[in-house]
Amino acid sequence: MSKPIVAIVGRPNVGKSTLFNQIGKQRVSIVDDMPGVTRDRIYLDAEWLGHAFTMIDTGGIELDESDHILKSMRQQAQIAMEEADVILFVVDGRAGLTTADEEVGHLLRSTKKPVVLAVNKVDSPEREMDMYEFYSLGLGDPIGISASNARNLGDLLDAVVAAFPEETGDDKEPDEISIAVIGRPNVGKSSIVNAILGEQRVIVSDVPGTTRDAIDTHFIEDGTKFMLIDTAGMRRRGKIDEPVERYSVMRSLRAIDRADVVLMMINAAEGITEQDKKIAGYAHESGRGVVIVVNKWDIFPEKDDKSTLRFTDELRDKLGFLQYAPVLYTSALTGQRVHRVTELVKYVAEQQSMRIKTSVLNELIRDAVSVNPPPMHRGRQLKILFMTQADVKPPRFILFVNDPELMHFSYLRFIENRLREQFGFEGTPLVLIVRKRG
Ligand code: GDP
Ligand code: GDP
Repeated sequence: MSKPIVAIVGRPNVGKSTLFNQIGKQRVSIVDDMPGVTRDRIYLDAEWLGHAFTMIDTGGIELDESDHILKSMRQQAQIAMEEADVILFVVDGRAGLTTADEEVGHLLRSTKKPVVLAVNKVDSPEREMDMYEFYSLGLGDPIGISASNARNLGDLLDAVVAAFPEETGDDKEPDEISIAVIGRPNVGKSSIVNAILGEQRVIVSDVPGTTRDAIDTHFIEDGTKFMLIDTAGMRRRGKIDEPVERYSVMRSLRAIDRADVVLMMINAAEGITEQDKKIAGYAHESGRGVVIVVNKWDIFPEKDDKSTLRFTDELRDKLGFLQYAPVLYTSALTGQRVHRVTELVKYVAEQQSMRIKTSVLNELIRDAVSVNPPPMHRGRQLKILFMTQADVKPPRFILFVNDPELMHFSYLRFIENRLREQFGFEGTPLVLIVRKRG
């Protein structure tokens, strides 16, 4: 079961990002332990009363024709209606009901998705009067909140959580490796999925997935079970040019959320773009395994024997946070190296599940400290008392130290590098958590 997606929709300045950040303060997720890569964050993983969900600020989605407020709001609403499980419509109680709110309200009334209406800037009980005119939107009882004062956010989140779709069991089998294929439009996602499946003798079934519209494909190769998650109804939709299709953040997030390993696809003919960085950032922050697939290698201009090296250098430079991801150069068109995809995916999935014994980790720490003692900080020396692995997928290590304040980021990086040198952990992020021994 993938996490429900909550999309925030609303005019500029109603307080969407304030609300988003306020909710983000209570988020419990592995993102907290990961060095951030997405500066302009538009989604976050949150949890309320034991319900995990992903929240997206549609105001932050870059739209082409965004100079016209009404037009871009309509697009936001449309994306939310297509992709979200719950729509959180935010209006401004101080400004009162505007024509743009009415337009969006009209659109949202036509959706079958649950809509929660929040009237923001109701900063005190005296301002609750401001809420009443919003009943006319016909979207049910408005909930008065103050994003900046964190007022009534509990009631709001209760309403959001209550609107989540009922949980259905995931149809993924326990020993199956699930793969999400992500990347910009036209990089060849559908083509590579078809090429992978074209090579398979044994396609187990084509059963409708738990996610709306998605068709997941299960297959077995050399005794290993795989499942290809269908992002964006890839194969069904084909080449229908849908404007919303271009802003498939939510689809990517949903697929990543369900995956063990993510295939991050890059178009060799176009190079690495800003949008690639963002999409790769989602994969990294999710803690999933990642394989970078540079596709359309057949049409890479003026290839020589150093081309892949140079391209890989550029990848390492521009997607610095994905240093650990293996890179594969493919052509979904000619089939070049497509057979290596599942091989690498399987390898990365194994790396993600690897457990290292505490005794072995402590030996590593002793060695690391003797080769490169932690630098002094304000006249005090960091002491690492011991390290243990707390989890897999992604591997998570806890370092118990005399004083966490003395741990410098660069020293953690050094330890991470030692872990990778010694054990590989290829294709998986590592999470290192520093705790005071007490
Ligand atoms: P967005 O454009 O919808 O993302 O709106 P922002 O979150 O950037 O907020 C727009 C303005 O409204 C900022 O000046 C915020 O400080 C202010 N604001 C946000 N929430 C509240 C609130 O609950 N009460 C009041 N009085 N102001 C708020
Ligand atoms: P998606 O939008 O990411 O699913 O991309 P598609 O799989 O629909 O591919 C977009 C276009 O690129 C189609 O015309 C494909 O035939 C073409 N294409 C996909 N992979 C390759 C490749 O490796 N080499 C070349 N030359 N074209 C490709």
